[in-house]
Amino acid sequence: MISSKEIKLQMIIILVMKMIRNFNIDYLLENNFELKIIIRGEEYYEQNMIKSVTWNNNNLEFKIIGTNTYLVIIDIEKGKINDFSCDCPYEYNCKHEVAALIYLYENLDEINDNNEEEKRKLQQLEEKIKTLSLNELSELTLELIRKNEKIRNNLLKKYKIGKK
Ligand SMILES: [Zn+2]
Repeated sequence: MISSKEIKLQMIIILVMKMIRNFNIDYLLENNFELKIIIRGEEYYEQNMIKSVTWNNNNLEFKIIGTNTYLVIIDIEKGKINDFSCDCPYEYNCKHEVAALIYLYENLDEINDNNEEEKRKLQQLEEKIKTLSLNELSELTLELIRKNEKIRNNLLKKYKIGKK
């Protein structure tokens, strides 16, 4: 049983966190994050444990350091969170997700702008590639194959080259 003193303490902590952060702590509580996990996640955020933040289509990927490095993925569409996950061993909603969600709330405008900018650049690149001649495309592909192992392996697989 949780004592009434503990409940009061939790309410105070929630109120304080609401005041100091503009993130939506209600969202975390609605998603069944335990309060102690929220507090640990807040600490992770404060202590700059987020190593990198990168877009991968509609997924915002966070590398978060700690005992190990963990990957938190937040699926976002037009500023709205669809889903989130972490690859750490903690079975329930974890502190890494909290840190990532806080980061997201604190930087949402900037994050959205960056993704729009990325999408614009990618679109321009696609337009440019469509104007290339067959020769230029062949040369570009060969260059990519030489420089990028992942592309090379994908193409070897696609054309079933080197298989017995
Ligand atoms: Zn985690």
